Amino acid sequence: MTSALNEFSLDFFSLAGKVAIVTGGNTGLGQGYAVALAKAGADLFIVTHGTNWEETKELIEKEGRRVSFYQADLSNRENIKGLVENCLATYGKIDILVNNAGTIRRAPLLEYKEEDWDAVMDLNLNSVYYLSQLAAKVMAEQKSGKIINIASMLSYQGGKFVPPYTTSKHGIAGLTKAFANELAEYGIQINAIAPGYVETKNTAPIRENPERLAEITSRIPAGRWATPADLMGVVVFLASRASDYMNGHIVAVDGGWLAR
Ligand code: NAD
Repeated sequence: MTSALNEFSLDFFSLAGKVAIVTGGNTGLGQGYAVALAKAGADLFIVTHGTNWEETKELIEKEGRRVSFYQADLSNRENIKGLVENCLATYGKIDILVNNAGTIRRAPLLEYKEEDWDAVMDLNLNSVYYLSQLAAKVMAEQKSGKIINIASMLSYQGGKFVPPYTTSKHGIAGLTKAFANELAEYGIQINAIAPGYVETKNTAPIRENPERLAEITSRIPAGRWATPADLMGVVVFLASRASDYMNGHIVAVDGGWLAR
């Protein structure tokens, strides 16, 4: 027992020599996760849907880490196999997968369009399943790996005007547990982060409405919205050896929202 206690050190949080895939890692929360993992020592493979990646490249290379960008529309499952193959060709392994890419489309339930339902479910839930399954096959051979999914307050609550978003984020909670149960024996841990309200493009329409902004902010015990920087510590922890006995959990980082 004493020797195990002596063995623990802050090096358990280091990601030196690790390779991490972050989907949507060029903007918002995903950019914060990618930079956090790079600061902890990982090389990055970033899946982008858009061309805005110069800033992220600079931020990661400043940490002395390698970064590679791969363009893919993840809502089309045909694109996922090529992504994993490209990461393996670039780095030879996958230690960490952060399933961050996500979208939200707002409309009242009775008017909700089929194409909007499909677009949100395809990206927020189906792509996470397909990409995680492929990455898990690589990790199972390696006998180690970390998959980090991005849940939401709407993994716990219902919300309004976002039916597929809520459904997909509840699905993420279930998928996290299902994968954790089957993959634990291969030394793979799957956990999820549930951010509270964060200032990103995703939430810009809410923040542009002063009444809605004040209503939400007044309900957050921390008294403010998060920024991507508030989520950087937890992603490093969940990607590192320090969390090896954590599996199948959803960690809320919400300024106290759920405790209210
Ligand atoms: P964001 O809009 O900045 O990021 C979304 C990312 O997904 C972008 O990088 C975008 O390029 C990528 N993306 C969108 N469509 C894609 C597609 N078809 N294929 C591949 N990539 C695609 O918003 P964000 O707030 O940083 O969201 C990141 C994640 O965090 C999402 O899963 C979101 O649901 C979740 N989240 C956000 C909040 C919040 O308050 N902002 C709260 C809880 C959870």
